[in-house]
Amino acid sequence: MADKANIYEQNLDKQQANFRPLSPISFLQWSAQVYPNKTAVIHGEKRFNWAEFAERCRRLASALNKRGIGLGDTVAIMSPNAPAMLEAHYGIPMTGAVLNALNFRLDAPTLAFILEHGEARVLITDREFSPVIKEALAELKSPITVIDVDDHLAEGGELIGEMDYETFLKEGDPDFEWQPPVEEWQAIALNYTSGTTGNPKGVVYHHRGAFLNAMGNALVFGLSHSSVYLWTLPMFHCNGWTFTWAVTAVGGTHVCLRQTDPAKIFPAIRDHRVTHMCGAPIVLNMMAHAPDEQKVAFEQTVDVATGGAAPPSAVIASMERMGFKVLHLYGLTESYGPATICAWQDEWDDLELDDKASKMSRQGVRYPTLFEQAILNPDTMAQVPADGETIGELMLSSNTVMKGYLKNPSATEAAFAGGWFHTGDLGVMHPDGYVEIKDRSKDIIISGGENISSLEIEECLYKHDKVMEAAVVAMSSEKWGETPCAFVTPPPGSEGDVTEVEIIEWCRDHMAHFKAPTKVVFGPLPKTSTGKIQKFVLRDKTEEL
Ligand code: ADP
Repeated sequence: MADKANIYEQNLDKQQANFRPLSPISFLQWSAQVYPNKTAVIHGEKRFNWAEFAERCRRLASALNKRGIGLGDTVAIMSPNAPAMLEAHYGIPMTGAVLNALNFRLDAPTLAFILEHGEARVLITDREFSPVIKEALAELKSPITVIDVDDHLAEGGELIGEMDYETFLKEGDPDFEWQPPVEEWQAIALNYTSGTTGNPKGVVYHHRGAFLNAMGNALVFGLSHSSVYLWTLPMFHCNGWTFTWAVTAVGGTHVCLRQTDPAKIFPAIRDHRVTHMCGAPIVLNMMAHAPDEQKVAFEQTVDVATGGAAPPSAVIASMERMGFKVLHLYGLTESYGPATICAWQDEWDDLELDDKASKMSRQGVRYPTLFEQAILNPDTMAQVPADGETIGELMLSSNTVMKGYLKNPSATEAAFAGGWFHTGDLGVMHPDGYVEIKDRSKDIIISGGENISSLEIEECLYKHDKVMEAAVVAMSSEKWGETPCAFVTPPPGSEGDVTEVEIIEWCRDHMAHFKAPTKVVFGPLPKTSTGKIQKFVLRDKTEEL
């Protein structure tokens, strides 16, 4: 066929009228225009409506701008889930700068590393964290402007900065004219991974990805202007899995919560008529095992999205019994938080609760905003058969995958090798197209040549009523190479009520015998700063057993 000019390419150009960079900041303008008088943020007895909240964000942007902050700069914030943290998600990128939300569970040397590596020029910090921040600042070589947030609900700490946040906002112009990013590929946020294998890596997000992932959240979680979202997930974690922007996109209400404590969560759900919340399985587990007097009743059904680690089906089942509807999400820092969802199928409605819960404990299908997901053999990059058995690596390719790692081209290149983002998670593809994660590549146990999924054993352990938390790691064995070793925390008050033999027997009765742990250790489990169980610490412990 002769070359023919494409008529759809002629005089049909991208221009301001029909092509604008996607940015989640535009959600704030929308909510402020559409719902100016509706409650945007609740924090203790404080309330801001959307007009007030947007004004505070513009003031923040303007005050930063007056200090010379703009394109290519980094502004860090150390804050619990409080209004200043939400405002940072808008005010900082409105200047063209990049938001670096710090994990408040990190120690001073790691915080100093992050501030230095991310080249933050301003740090906004909640007074409660002044001890660790003071220590981190003492280690910094580069100058940084420190602004204190003197939150009325903060406990302890002192003011260590140059100025108080509210005074800083007053410096800013309430009518500051926000300019959308010139390019949607422009960086919006910098989030450091937990760095269990060396220095943390700085994951860079762009405006486009943040916009799209927030839209994906709103779609899969069914958010609307009547949604009341309780902040039980730290906003520093992947920008609260991009819900910091998603809730604003629909003009819902953000309910701040400084501590993820069941004694505060249940009353907040009742008092504010919360409709949606997110949390790692450990948060759900804490709620399920909270003392009865803390579990105050509420009338509505609360949608709770969980992810960040595999939720044991027993935990899903107990949340559902308490009046929550659980949605299972999977993702990582590199994918703006949630990337896959265990989408509900109507046929599952008739299943028993336990069977439902095991369907739901799979990581599922891609978000509608995730372009592609696959389970590939990392050596050949070929798809594994969808048989629910053949293990491969979960790989993603999407507009909702990070730009790359800051100042780390070799790590970026390795993560994107072969045109896919390598998650480092091993899983299977079921015949129905649902993905199930079996382990992180480093956590799989190889016993007598057989692969054993630590998650499968944990899933079985969680079904025992004297197990509140469990983690299984490989322990070296002369005979088998490796065997599973289980670390178990019984519920409070039940310590000593269960023996090693009982636990091993339970596993042998409910799984193939070779998968049963050969050793069980009772006690509390070591956690990372994002609340994940530190399996590498447990692996080290097995050497002393
Ligand atoms: P970090 O890597 O610092 O622990 P991330 O939040 O990026 O922090 O962790 C992402 C990892 O968490 C994934 O690679 C995966 O191993 C695990 N993960 C997240 N969601 C799930 C889930 N629903 N089921 C099982 N594992 C999950």
